[in-house]
Amino acid sequence: MAANPSLGSMIVVGDVVVHSDILTEFFCCNLSACRGACCVEGDAGAPVTLDEVAELEECLDVVWDELNAQAQSVIDRQGVSYIDREGDMVTSIVQGRDCAFACTDLGSGCTMCVLERAFRGGRTHWMKPISCSLYPIREKRLGDMVGLSYHRWDICRDAVRLGREKRLPLYQFLREPLIARFGKEWYAELETAVREMRAQGLLPEAS
Ligand code: SF4
Repeated sequence: MAANPSLGSMIVVGDVVVHSDILTEFFCCNLSACRGACCVEGDAGAPVTLDEVAELEECLDVVWDELNAQAQSVIDRQGVSYIDREGDMVTSIVQGRDCAFACTDLGSGCTMCVLERAFRGGRTHWMKPISCSLYPIREKRLGDMVGLSYHRWDICRDAVRLGREKRLPLYQFLREPLIARFGKEWYAELETAVREMRAQGLLPEAS
């Protein structure tokens, strides 16, 4: 996997094109401020692959009683996923916005994912779609390559603030999901590329 810093504000690591914002912008989710809003805001579900749709279906029996009645009815009608306006397969949503798999954590009052709760409780073997774990990094197919960009959303403003306080770049905050998606070797190459580009003055300072 070769790192290639030649694409202006992008770098290429293996077959992944990484936007430099992911390397330079600070970010750290602040659940006590946002209350998990990304699960219930917006106008489409979370992107899923066909394999992930199969995983969702397999988890459905375990989490069914934790879904609200509207979510159960949407899933009964159209299944766990649908094709959104941009042609992407995404998780089903309720009332045009809330992910069907979102629930409220009674302890914290935050929105959380029933799939992740079941996984962490040892009741399933699969946590949730990788696009959820990677958010606010978004993935797009670019022919034979994959493009990663930073999806800026006002609901995450406290995460930007907290990330700046901690001086934590987005790619480091999302280290584990990036490794889960692309592998340890890929992530190590990304880190090397960042170090080399910084040393050569090719990467803007973190903001
Ligand atoms: S991605 Fe944004 S909305 Fe979602 S948990 Fe993090 S800070 Fe909150």
